[in-house]
Amino acid sequence: MKYLKTSGVVIAESSMEDYDKMLTVLTPNMGKISCIARGAKKNNSPLMAGTQYLCFSDFNLYKTKDTYSINSCETIEVFYNIRTDLDKLTVASFVTKIINDVTTENQGSFNTLKLYLNTLYMISETDKDLDFIVSVFKLRLLKILGFMPNVSECVECKSKNKIAYFSIKDDGVKCKKCGKLDKGAIQISEATLNAMKYILGADSKKIFNFSIPKECEKELEIVTSLYLNEKLEKEYKIEKIV
Ligand SMILES: [Zn+2]
Repeated sequence: MKYLKTSGVVIAESSMEDYDKMLTVLTPNMGKISCIARGAKKNNSPLMAGTQYLCFSDFNLYKTKDTYSINSCETIEVFYNIRTDLDKLTVASFVTKIINDVTTENQGSFNTLKLYLNTLYMISETDKDLDFIVSVFKLRLLKILGFMPNVSECVECKSKNKIAYFSIKDDGVKCKKCGKLDKGAIQISEATLNAMKYILGADSKKIFNFSIPKECEKELEIVTSLYLNEKLEKEYKIEKIV
């Protein structure tokens, strides 16, 4: 039996027999792990708070063969506002679904976890537009996953001027002339281009610290959504929680 300690966010949970729960926890160094939380569904269980969905906690674990069990845990951040606001919960669950898809076991996920925690914090603790938060999350996640688009110059002719399109298939922006020849390219405004540059270039703690004109929010949403769907080969859509 091996004892170990880690922090992590509960990104999925399912009921087991009796009062037990099976959790999927995203950790900084061990990637995504499955853990059994014995008795966590009992009202007076010391594991109850820290093993809730979307809770960021410190866990004391023990490992037998391929299974982790939780000995004890302590909550670090519960993101309380997400639990009391259905819109926030819907968006947080959507972000979590993507996180669940892009992480695996035994693969360090420090940067992904940092972005995820930062995103949950923005959803929970600020009044920023939820679609805007998702757009920033998606683009920055793509960078972490190694899909960094070229937003500094036209990917075709290398011109830095008159950038007016984003090409999904060519992984970057295009100038007015080249973009017109690319049927799939999406027209983008200067504000959207600057937003993308900011999201990809800013310090990880500051990626949400900017604003974009309301009319460009939709544009940013379209570009980041299409690009993410293309790179992750999946049609991600926010699903209403009923
Ligand atoms: Zn060009």
